[in-house]
Amino acid sequence: MILLTGGTGFIGSHAAVELLSGGYDVIVLDDLSNSSFEVIDRIEKISGIRPKFVQGDVKDVAVLNKLFGEFPIEGVMHFAGLKAVGDSFKYPLEYYSENVVGTCVLLSVMQAFGVYDIVFSSSATVYKPSNDMPLSEQAEVGEQSNPYGRTKAVVEKMLADLALSDPKWSIAILRYFNPIGAHPSGLLGEAPNGVPNNLVPYITKVLTGKLERLHVFGDDFDTEDGTGVRDYIHVEDLSLGHLKAYEFLKHHSGVNVWNLGTGIGHSVFDVVRAFERVTGRSIPYEISARREGDIARCWANPSKALLDLEWKAERTLDDMVRDAWRWAQYNLN
Ligand code: NAD
Ligand code: UDP
Repeated sequence: MILLTGGTGFIGSHAAVELLSGGYDVIVLDDLSNSSFEVIDRIEKISGIRPKFVQGDVKDVAVLNKLFGEFPIEGVMHFAGLKAVGDSFKYPLEYYSENVVGTCVLLSVMQAFGVYDIVFSSSATVYKPSNDMPLSEQAEVGEQSNPYGRTKAVVEKMLADLALSDPKWSIAILRYFNPIGAHPSGLLGEAPNGVPNNLVPYITKVLTGKLERLHVFGDDFDTEDGTGVRDYIHVEDLSLGHLKAYEFLKHHSGVNVWNLGTGIGHSVFDVVRAFERVTGRSIPYEISARREGDIARCWANPSKALLDLEWKAERTLDDMVRDAWRWAQYNLN
């Protein structure tokens, strides 16, 4: 059985479907601070199997002790955490508490119960902004531009120290690039509270009339069309990467780091045009000032994942946008 912390969230719910479809038994621990219980019904609707669910906080030792005591958990995928870059400046202690303390508590209980396989959700934000593109796993880590990124870097170090202390640990650090898209059924997707920070949920809110226009954060970057370039990856491709990484851990110990990206960069205008193609509508936008901390370009060299895991992202930007739009139409109204 695999424990998915944060398993009712955006990425965790897709991973749950992937694992259940792959024949794994899944138990979800989530405090529902950024997701809802209905997601469990939807996971069951898609996969035909209902994952076990426990509502609780990953920082709560008593909850974790009960969980590991009661269920035959063999490994963990740890998605639970906070992820809003802007909020991380306002509430740094909450970010360190959820992301760093939460992981520390989880690892302690895993160790106590002799569970040593963990897949951790890290981020491309751990890389130094000055690195050349594309980013391989060898690129320098450091100088994260926000507290959120620093919490991910701290956890990466904690995992490395843990692996040094005991060879029984098998750890996968997955550095996600920009996960977008949704399940093609329209049943699972991203539903941020309030005004979205990220590009794709913002655009779907403009398209459903909830927001007036997109603010393009800068058109004077050193990129082809002047807007920021990112490596957008379909959440379903990302989920398969988790399954492959977990299976790798069965035969390898120590810390293993992989970039999960497509290797292709798309600008803000590329994404806008993809939405216009898919929906047949035009997206009103205006050029605004650059957002603090935003870098011009960021995309992965994903060849290590191909080599080690035989994993490669297959879905195109239009696939991602089509699925994100279906999800938005079914759920945002
Ligand atoms: P999400 O907010 O949709 O999912 C996180 C889930 O964790 C939510 O369901 C939330 O209720 C739960 N949670 C939060 N704190 C918890 C706690 N203390 N105890 C139990 N549950 C808790 O986010 P997501 O996009 O699915 O991200 C999953 C992970 O991937 C996060 O660690 C995030 O930092 C990381 N990540 C996300 C992105 C992205 O763009 N979405 C990029 C890089 C890394
Ligand atoms: N962006 C934008 N307007 C928005 C949100 C994002 O122009 O409302 C741009 C942002 O500057 C970046 C890209 O879209 O170049 C992706 O931003 P997002 O917040 O989705 O992901 P990030 O790479 O910052 O984590």
